[in-house]
Amino acid sequence: MTPAIVTESLSKRYASRMAVENLSIQVQRGEVFGLLGPNGAGKTTTIAMLLGLVAPTSGHAALLGTPLGPQLAVALRKVGVMIETPAIYPYLNGAENLLVLARAGRIDPQRVDRVLQIVGLQERAKEAARTYSQGMRQRLAIAAALLPDPELIILDEPTNGLDPAGMVEIRDLIRHLAAEGRTILLCSHVLHEVEQLCQRVAILKEGRLIAQGNVADLLQREQGIRLRVEGD
Ligand code: ATP
Repeated sequence: MTPAIVTESLSKRYASRMAVENLSIQVQRGEVFGLLGPNGAGKTTTIAMLLGLVAPTSGHAALLGTPLGPQLAVALRKVGVMIETPAIYPYLNGAENLLVLARAGRIDPQRVDRVLQIVGLQERAKEAARTYSQGMRQRLAIAAALLPDPELIILDEPTNGLDPAGMVEIRDLIRHLAAEGRTILLCSHVLHEVEQLCQRVAILKEGRLIAQGNVADLLQREQGIRLRVEGD
């Protein structure tokens, strides 16, 4: 089976700045893969290219075996995405927020109950989203990503801004999704988080890949990575 994500020498230039430079990574099906790097490292630009939102300056990429290009829309039906700042209608309740997305995406509305259950929000589903804590909002955003029953889930900084308890909830949820056999691309600037959740990781800095591989091996081989990643 083809990998879930392949990028080959993928680059994106904005004016004089290389946001992503010659990025080559492979995410295998069923793994939790970490894309790690400080702010501005190029994680969001990489995601935007994989989703067909930003055209690469050069290089190639494929998602679930489909190269970037006109066919990508078909592969994207099996991809769930949680962006860094989720868009939530504050005056709609949790279930209604998801129903809007299900209708727009022509997804069976019965999926709404199922995804609320997966993220542990079913008891608050009838309450307005504006009453939700930050952690609940993040879980609602993950629920939205789960609506199409995705094979691949891309999570951009899913624990950003959460207190420790909220972080634990999200991490447990990611473990649960991985145990269901879904492939997860987890973007984060928190090394500790990817260490806990990911089998393999790619570390970006200023658009360039500075290391890739098994998390434990990388930390042993490259003692300076922690300092290099978190030193900004
Ligand atoms: P963050 O966690 O802060 O989102 P990131 O690792 O996701 O960081 P990117 O958002 O991909 O990094 O940004 C990479 C670089 O590209 C940064 O220097 C950023 O300023 C620049 N950049 C991103 N989008 C654009 C754009 N549309 N136009 C110009 N420069 C951009």
